[in-house]
Parts: sequence; structure tokens; C-alpha cells
Amino acid sequence: MNPPSLCPIGVGWPARALLALLISLLSIPFSPAASAAEFDYRLAPRRIADGVYVLIGRTEDFSLANGGNIVNTGFVVGTQGVVAIDTGSSRRYGEQMRAAIARITPLPVVLVINTHHHPDHFLGNQAFAADTLAALPETIRAIEAEGPGFLDNMYRLNGDWMRATEVVVPRRALAAGRINAGGRELELIALGGHTVADLVVLDHASGTLFTADLVFNGRAPTTPHADITQWLQALDRLEQISFRQLVPGHGEVAADTAPIADTRRYLRWLAQTIRDGAEQGLDMTEMLALPVPATHAELAEVASEYRRSITHLYPAAERAALGVPR
Ligand SMILES: [Zn+2]
Repeated sequence: MNPPSLCPIGVGWPARALLALLISLLSIPFSPAASAAEFDYRLAPRRIADGVYVLIGRTEDFSLANGGNIVNTGFVVGTQGVVAIDTGSSRRYGEQMRAAIARITPLPVVLVINTHHHPDHFLGNQAFAADTLAALPETIRAIEAEGPGFLDNMYRLNGDWMRATEVVVPRRALAAGRINAGGRELELIALGGHTVADLVVLDHASGTLFTADLVFNGRAPTTPHADITQWLQALDRLEQISFRQLVPGHGEVAADTAPIADTRRYLRWLAQTIRDGAEQGLDMTEMLALPVPATHAELAEVASEYRRSITHLYPAAERAALGVPR
């Protein structure tokens, strides 16, 4: 998941700290939940299979009220160690996730996988040992390139929940294939389409498929770095994998392929709407005013995600319809 827009102007550290302070001060009278809770995400790992736990975030957008806890993370406990899958949206999230893991098992975290480079999936990295942080090579490069811009934006959106959060780039490059980590057999499946690289993790013992943000369940997908054609191919691939339960990047855990089909249906509609609009010569304002059909109306955040997607995907479609080279 990605914030609605990246800060167009890089904000330096002092300005960022000042901004976070200002936001937190302003938020005190209006956001008692954030201040009274002392920035506690109240992470409660849910056991969904033997040794498999998930932390389910809200299906919302980033806000001062949720502090960025809108993402699913998880961990798998092996015989010798723990594998964490994504680290959440802030240093506080990462630290609280680590504490939550420690309440379940005394075993060390031996591998931390960042499934892709969106900030809610890696900004908790600081809480974990640097040599355990791992991702696909394209994800590592993307965190390096885009991490600082994401961080500025997350301070703006989540205020003091972000305090002391810094970008920590994973240094261990992962490749597709079967690995044994902490005594657990995991299949790493390298796909893409939601971003330049999206890593799916299958835990063989439990049949749990962590799909990262290739699958959204009950929430409109985000598309700021999407290649929808590639994403649809990735969904086809996911559908062929035999699993017992699916943990999406956002939304509830599922026992069937329904969330894959829902994500596909939404993305196909979005792509078709963009193609049709460009062919008919609609301008951006007309596109943004189009209603979201009832078939997708149930998805959380659908109206704002539709507008966000149009804003960043439509210009290229217009150019293509006019025959202008990209
Ligand atoms: Zn994402």
C-alpha cells in the first residue's frame, strides 16, 4: 500500500521533525485515541495455523488515528527461529511487532522478509537485526530509491506515530525458490505487477499463502506503482497454487480464492474504464467524476482509490490513445 501522493518537495529532517511535532500538537484535541493510547497499536497476533500468526490491520487509509496500521504482517515460528513477513508502517510498529512475537515464542527472529517496497511493509525494519532483513533485489533498489520520499509522506499522514522512524534498506537479496528458515520450509514466489517486485511466501507445513499486496480482500487495491497487465498475470499464477489459507496484504484472511477473483475483477474494470475513457476522449475531470459501479461499491476506500488510480494511470492512457510515444 502506498500513501495517496508522494510529497512533491523533499522535506529535510529538521522540517520533518517540526512537521511531526506540529501535527501531533494539533491532533491532541481531535484525536484522543492516538494520544491516550500512547501510540500503542495493540498488535494481537492471531494464530491461523500451527506456528503461523497474522497481525491484521484496518482496511483504511493512513491517518493520525490509525498511525499507519492498515497493513497485514505475519510470522512463522519454526523449530529454531522465526520468519517475519513485513514489518509495518513505523519504528513503533516494528518494535511492537517484535514484542508481540516475543510473547509467543522465545526463539530468535532469523529472517525478516519485505514483500515489496511500499512503506507500510518495511518502515518497521529498524526494530529487527540488520542482517535478518531481506527482499528481492528489485525491492531493495526501490526501497533505496523511494524510501526517503515515502518516509516524508508517512510523517505527514501519521504524525507522531512515526517518531524516530528511519528507512532501513534490507541487504540480503532473496531469490525465488524453496528455502529453509528457522526450521521451516518456505517457498518464495517472485512475482510483480502491484510493484516492480512482489514476493509471495508459501509456508508448506500449514499451506498458508502470504500474497503480499497482489491480493486485497474487501478493500480497493492501490496502484501507484502498478503494471496492471503484469498484476493480472500474477493473479492467474496465484490461483494455480494449492493453499489452505490466504493472507492478503490488506483485509481478512481467506480460505479460498475469492479475494484473488475480487482483486482481478476490480483491476480489469479499472483498466477497461481507463481504456474506454481514453478512446472516448474524456478528460481527467470527467474521468474522476465517473461513478464506481455497484459491483465494487462494497470495497473499503474504493472512491478515493479509484480517483487516485485515475490521477496516476490516466495520463499515460491518454497519450497512448493519441498515439503519442510514451
Ligand atoms: Zn503495496
